[in-house]
Amino acid sequence: EEALAEGRKWKKFDPAKLKEAPWRLSMLSQLDTALESGDLWVAYQPKLELPSRTIVGAEALVRWSHPEKGAVPPVEFIPVAEQSGRIIDLTTFVLERAVRAGAFIGHRHPGFGMSVNLSAKLLGETEIDTMIGRLLDRYAFAPELLTLEVTETAALATGVGALEPLHRLRSMGVRIAIDDYGTGLSTLEYLRRIPATEIKIDRSFVQAVYKNHSDKLMVHSTIQLAHSLGQKVVAEGVEDAQTLEALAFMGCDEAQGYLIGRPVAFRELVRGLRSVGKARAASTFRVRA
Ligand code: C2E
Ligand code: MG
Ligand code: MG
Ligand code: MG
Repeated sequence: EEALAEGRKWKKFDPAKLKEAPWRLSMLSQLDTALESGDLWVAYQPKLELPSRTIVGAEALVRWSHPEKGAVPPVEFIPVAEQSGRIIDLTTFVLERAVRAGAFIGHRHPGFGMSVNLSAKLLGETEIDTMIGRLLDRYAFAPELLTLEVTETAALATGVGALEPLHRLRSMGVRIAIDDYGTGLSTLEYLRRIPATEIKIDRSFVQAVYKNHSDKLMVHSTIQLAHSLGQKVVAEGVEDAQTLEALAFMGCDEAQGYLIGRPVAFRELVRGLRSVGKARAASTFRVRA
C-alpha cells in the first residue's frame, strides 16, 4: 500500500505541461484584470421543460475572451481560480450577472429560472448563504428561481459539516442541483447528504442513450429513482431530436444542449426568447408567457 502511495507522487514527464506552466502562472494575474476589463463575461444556455417543450430558464456559464488567446475554456481557468481563492470573486460576479439577468427576463416571462455553477471550494464558505440572500433581495428575485449546481465529485470531497451553507440556502428556498451526475462516485449515501432538488445527468450518458441499451436503462432508472426521491431530472448535452424524444418518453423533466440552444450572451438570449415567443406556431419550442 505504501509503495502504491509512493508511486502516485511520480507523474510521467510531459513536456507540453512544462510549456504551459508560464501561462498557468500568468493566468492568475490576468484573471484579475479580466474581471475588471470585461473580458470575463457570462453566457446563458436555455433549459427546456418536457414534455411541454417550453423554455423555463437558463444556466449561466462563465466565459473568458482573452485578447490574445481567444476563448479560454472554463475547465482551464476555473481550477486556477479555485486554487488561488479568486473563485470567490468570480462566483460573486457570475451570480450577480445571472440574478440580474433572471430578474430582467422575469418581467416578460414570470417564473423564468436561473442556474449558476457553484465550485466545491465555496461550499465551506460560511458567508455564501448571506451573500446570496442579499443578492436575491437586491434584485427581488425569488429564491425558488435560483438553482445552484454542484458537481457530485466536488460535494463528495467536502466534509459533511461543510455542507451546512448548502442546507441553509436550501431552507431559504434556493434550489440545489447535482451536476454531471453519473461521472463521480455517487452512492445512495451521497444522494442523501446533499439537499438536492434536481439532478443533471451527464452528457456522456445522455448522448449514449441511443447507441447503448444499458445506458438507456441507467438513464431510465435514474429518472425513476430521482422522481421517487421527489427530485427533478435534467439531461445535459442533448444534440439531436431523437435523443430529446427518448428523454421525453422516459419522463425526463428538462433538457439542455446544442439542439435547444448554445450558451449565448444575454442580449442574444433575450432576442432568442422573443423570436420563439413570436414564432410560437412555427417553432418546436415554446417560451413561458
Ligand atoms: P457544466 O456545468 O456541466 O456545463 C455544461 C457544459 O457543457 C458547458 O461547457 C456547455 O457549454 C457544454 N454543453 C452544453 N450543451 C452541450 C451539447 O449539446 N454538447 C456538448 N458537447 N457540450 C454542451 P462550458 O461552458 O465549457 O463549461 C464547462 C464546465 O465549467 C461546466 O460544466 C462547469 O462545471 C464549469 N463552469 C462553467 N461556468 C462556471 C462558473 O461560472 N462557475 C463555476 N464554478 N464553474 C463553471
Ligand atoms: Mg452546470
Ligand atoms: Mg453539467
Ligand atoms: Mg458537464
